[in-house]
Amino acid sequence: MSPDPSRPRAPLSCEVAVVGGGPVGMLLAAELAHHGVAVTVIERNERTLDVPKAGTLHARTAQSLRRRGYLEGPEPTTALLDSENADGFHFAGLPGLTITGPAVEGEPIVGRAQGDLERLFERVALERGATVLRGHRVTALHGGGDGTGPGLTIEACGSGAPPRTLTAAYVIGADGARSLVREAAGVTSEEHAPHTQAVLGLVDLDAPFRAPAGWTPTERGWTVIGPNPYGPSRVAAFDFGGPHPDRRTPLTLEELRATVSRIAGRDIPMRNARFLDRFSDYSRLTHTYRAGRVLLAGDAAHVHFPVGGQGLNLGIQDAVNLAWKLALHLRGWPSPWLLDSYTAERRPPAARTIANTRAQLALMTPGATHDPLRELFTRLLRLPDVSRHLGDMISDQDVQLPRTADQSPLTGLFLPNLPLSVERRPTSVARLLRPGRLLLLVLDQGTEEALRKALAPWDEVVDVVPATSEARLPLRAALLRPDGYLAWVDDGNGAGAAGLEATLDTYLGRRT
Ligand SMILES: Cc1cc2nc3c(=O)[nH]c(=O)nc-3n(C[C@H](O)[C@H](O)[C@H](O)COP(=O)(O)OP(=O)(O)OC[C@H]3O[C@@H](n4cnc5c(N)ncnc54)[C@H](O)[C@@H]3O)c2cc1C
Repeated sequence: MSPDPSRPRAPLSCEVAVVGGGPVGMLLAAELAHHGVAVTVIERNERTLDVPKAGTLHARTAQSLRRRGYLEGPEPTTALLDSENADGFHFAGLPGLTITGPAVEGEPIVGRAQGDLERLFERVALERGATVLRGHRVTALHGGGDGTGPGLTIEACGSGAPPRTLTAAYVIGADGARSLVREAAGVTSEEHAPHTQAVLGLVDLDAPFRAPAGWTPTERGWTVIGPNPYGPSRVAAFDFGGPHPDRRTPLTLEELRATVSRIAGRDIPMRNARFLDRFSDYSRLTHTYRAGRVLLAGDAAHVHFPVGGQGLNLGIQDAVNLAWKLALHLRGWPSPWLLDSYTAERRPPAARTIANTRAQLALMTPGATHDPLRELFTRLLRLPDVSRHLGDMISDQDVQLPRTADQSPLTGLFLPNLPLSVERRPTSVARLLRPGRLLLLVLDQGTEEALRKALAPWDEVVDVVPATSEARLPLRAALLRPDGYLAWVDDGNGAGAAGLEATLDTYLGRRT
């Protein structure tokens, strides 16, 4: 007998409720479930929608996902240590940017549709025991604002299903740009009003070989077309004539064709729209990623113009930054750092991405006034230092997490995927990080005894791995975080075991 849709069902309860099962929400669920957290995702869509949006994983995201086991990568060898891989990219639609990354990490750019990622993360989340409540829209969130109360209550309704109430100790809003969780928690944002409107469609082009391919500037804006003679083509146009009066007005095939044709300066005939959407350069960055027991991740915390393919990359890195910290917090480690550091570490990269997308859009301003600037930039992009600076910025490879003045300058950096030997067996940094635990890598065995002693209060959550490496490493030992960043480094100049103890005190505190 099917349940009576008008009768509320018994409340569900979990440790963490994730509102929104897009790619970021599903990854959070998979990661939290990996750490044994009872997690429920509430997603309004019955199934993954294959939207033609994110398709680019940049280097740091790919590196992070390889460490967490979601992407395959090469086995690093000593021969690869000093070489780099390079992929061509663009900056503000201008060709010539090269994104490089250590060869031990694999390709710097990985093509992966966001729908495929969402499916992968959801499958893993379910395998690990997460609950996924699809077809349910969250309509309200109560309680938990100051972090001291007992928990939060979520109300959700489903089409044809009875309303549901869910209680959780923590709620993560991964519910996208128009986040209900963000609004309900009263989180405010820094915003930039839109100046540009953009249209996007997945359509059949009547003459795919005659359509302008790639990023094409015109006197009125830009067309961005990926002509596909064998199926649907991704077609977009950026119109710099001002924002659309109502962004929520549905885009029609006729409007897409008219806009693309107007910007291109000639008719671009198309039919059979599978997907139509409009977007703008409106940007938002929340002032905090946490309000008491409510946390925000992905587009719920940051949105910007999608030039450079960076939005989902930020969200994925939010998830890998947050999940292990929240899990340790829920297992009783008392340090406030575990939750406070999330905003401190993840907001600055988002602020920088918003700034770089705004800079790119300014550079894309059509017309003769900006042509010399574009020509200058095109020449600058050929300079290796400029290309590296911009490439590292877009791919987040230059991120260094906050560190204190007394810590090694390596602290907060991401440790490359070095080939290592443990008990004479070959392994790698990425492989050792698969369990998702804090990892004390001991490369100078003379330091091991003192380090083991120093971490005794935390030995149940820190794995100690004595290893050897043929890489010329300026470190004797290092504490690696589950997300691959260096929490503490003994480079021979610092406080040694006392520094490790101080770091673990800050990160975890002591259980009484
Ligand atoms: C044209 C375009 C191209 C892009 N290209 C790239 C790219 O190449 N690379 C890149 O990194 N990024 C790109 N992005 C950005 C990327 O698409 C987003 O950053 C990404 O979708 C964010 O993922 P998310 O999980 O945070 O949010 P979303 O994908 O928006 O997922 C949020 C989920 O929450 C659900 N939800 C919302 N409200 C509720 C509710 N009340 N109850 C229950 N469920 C709810 C939604 O149904 C949705 O499934 C692009 C964006 C656009 C517009």
